[in-house]
Amino acid sequence: MDTTIFETTESQVRSYCRSWPTVFTSASGSILTDEQGKEYIDFFSGAGALNYGHNNPELRAELLNYFSSDALVHSLDMMTPAKREFLTTFKEVILDPRGLGYKVMFPGPTGTNTVETALKLARKVTGRQHILSFTNAFHGMTLGSLSVTGNSMKRQGAGMPLTNSSKIPYDNYLDGETADFLWLERVLEDSGSGVDKPAAIIVETVQGEGGLNAARAEWLRGLRELTQRHDILLIVDDVQAGCGRTGTFFSFEEAGIVPDIVCVSKSISGYGLPMALTLFSHELDVWAPGEHNGTFRGNNPAFVTATAALRRYWADDSFQSGHLAKVIDTVQDALTKIAIEVEGTTVKGRGLLTGLYFRDPAVAGKVAAAGFEKGLLMETSGPQDEVLKLMPALTMDLVVLERGLNTLADCIAEVTG
Ligand code: PMP
Repeated sequence: MDTTIFETTESQVRSYCRSWPTVFTSASGSILTDEQGKEYIDFFSGAGALNYGHNNPELRAELLNYFSSDALVHSLDMMTPAKREFLTTFKEVILDPRGLGYKVMFPGPTGTNTVETALKLARKVTGRQHILSFTNAFHGMTLGSLSVTGNSMKRQGAGMPLTNSSKIPYDNYLDGETADFLWLERVLEDSGSGVDKPAAIIVETVQGEGGLNAARAEWLRGLRELTQRHDILLIVDDVQAGCGRTGTFFSFEEAGIVPDIVCVSKSISGYGLPMALTLFSHELDVWAPGEHNGTFRGNNPAFVTATAALRRYWADDSFQSGHLAKVIDTVQDALTKIAIEVEGTTVKGRGLLTGLYFRDPAVAGKVAAAGFEKGLLMETSGPQDEVLKLMPALTMDLVVLERGLNTLADCIAEVTG
C-alpha cells in the first residue's frame, strides 16, 4: 500500500482513511475502485445511506435530468414541484398502504437533526422534559441526540452535562427473556422512585452502532403498550434500520406497532444525498410558525432521487418479496453457517443490518482489516467493536454478494484459524 498519498491529507482530516488507507475514485452498485485500480466489494453502503448502491443508474438519470433544467436546487421551506412530488409519492407508496397517517416534516439534512426534532417536539407536546432511552443506543452526535445515546465514550465528547434523560436496559440486556415492562411501570408509578414521568421513550428496533442488538417483536409491542398506558410518546429512531434495511420499509412493521414519532434519514434520498424526515401524528403538530426551522431543508435533488427510489423499489411489494428477500436469505444463511463452524461467534441483528459477534473483541477488527486487504469493506460495531457489521446494498447483485461472503469466510478462517 502506497501510504505517501496521505502525506498531506493525513494531518488535515479525520476520516475512515484510518481504517481504509486508500483513495477511492469511483463506485458503481456495490463495487468501489481505488486509485490503484483495486476493486472493493461494499458491505458498508455509506453507513446505511446507500441502500440502493452507488450511482444507481435509474436514480442518476432522474438527477441528471433535474440538474439540466432550471428547477430549484435549494429552496428552504418553500414548496416546489420536486418536494410536492416526494410528499405525494411518500403518502401514496409508503404511508397509505401501511395505514399510517403521519405528518411529514423536513428537520434538516441529517439523522441527528431528525432526532433533535423528535425530542424537542415530544417535550413541547407533553410539557415534560425527561426522556428515556436505552443502554447501547446511538441517536447522533449533537447535544440532544447525544443525551439519549447510551455510549459513555461518545457522551464524554459533549464536554458538558447531558441532562434530562435516563438509560434503561434494552431487550436482552439482562439476558432475560421477559418482554413485560412491569418493573418500569412500578418505577413510573412510584412517587418515591425519583424517576420523572418522561415525555417520550426513544428506541432503535436494531441498535446499529451499539452492537446490532435486535429487539424482539413482543418486546417492542410491550414497550408500545406501556407507553400508551402511561401517555408517554414512543419515538422510533429508524435512521439506520429504516428504508428497507431490515426487510420492510419501516423496521417496526414486523412488530406491528405504530410509533407516535418516527425518525428517518440515511437512505431516504436513495442516492446518498443528505435528507431526513420526522414523521408524527397530526395531533402532535404543535409547532408555532418559525419555532423550529433551518436552512437546508429543501434539498430538491434529494427529493427527486427519493421519489424515484420509492417508485422504483416500493410502489408494489415485488422488490421486497423478490430481490430483497433473496439478499437477506443469502446473507443470513452465510452468517449462520459461519457461526456454526467458528466457535465463539453469534449472528446479530436483523435483515441487512446484521453481522457477527466475536467472543474475543479483537477478532472483529482483525477480520475487517483482513477484508480490506482482500477487497471487502466492512465496519465494526458495539461498545468494544466486538461485532463485525455487514450492511450490503438491498439491491446487491447476487453473484457479487456470494463473492463477498466467500471472501468474508476466508478472512474469518485466516484470523481465527
Ligand atoms: N440515529 C441512528 C440510529 C443512527 O444510526 C445515526 C447515525 N449512525 C444517527 C441517528 C445520526 O445520524 P447522522 O450521522 O446522519 O447525524
